[in-house]
Amino acid sequence: MAHGLVLLFTGEGKGKTTAALGTAFRAWGHGMRVFFLQFVKGERVTTGERLAVAKLPDNFLELETMGAGFIFAREGEEHHREAARRAWERAREVVLSGTYDLVVLDEFTYVLRYGFVSLEEVRELVATRPPALHLIFTGRGAPPELVELADTVTEMREVKHHYRKGISAQKGIEF
Ligand code: ATP
Ligand code: MG
Repeated sequence: MAHGLVLLFTGEGKGKTTAALGTAFRAWGHGMRVFFLQFVKGERVTTGERLAVAKLPDNFLELETMGAGFIFAREGEEHHREAARRAWERAREVVLSGTYDLVVLDEFTYVLRYGFVSLEEVRELVATRPPALHLIFTGRGAPPELVELADTVTEMREVKHHYRKGISAQKGIEF
């Protein structure tokens, strides 16, 4: 019997989003339905994952970016809050739809950190989701309450990063 799990990939090291993508790929192999919601839109729109989704068959994961660049945008606090709230409402809709077996909320920790979504709201969604639905949260600096809520937590620890040598983000490795 399928037992829905809550997974959290956090920490400063590289590998959080790609771990979620790897899990999505694995689930898809089993014919499971996957939704991948990106809370933060970075400077790069054309990520490899977005291009891959476009090349793969229709039944591969659905990927949406809802952040409107809210971390990097210059607009004020209210603009960021609105983008985060839209993303959260979309996340609730997707999770509660009963259509998916795995939902990824990528870079979710930032909306918690900024207080745009409360831990109470997260607890409520986790508790009321379909019982077999797996949920993955990613992002740096997960608060202890999110760690508490998750069944499996992996902290990516930076041992080294090429960025420290001044090597810029590389296609296929970072985007
Ligand atoms: P990935 O998407 O490669 O799995 P991630 O999700 O763990 O990485 P994020 O915190 O979301 O990492 O950062 C996005 C990108 O920024 C990553 O591809 C990573 O290589 C890069 N990065 C990681 N650490 C740093 C750093 N200290 N400075 C600048 N860029 C970094
Ligand atoms: Mg990431």
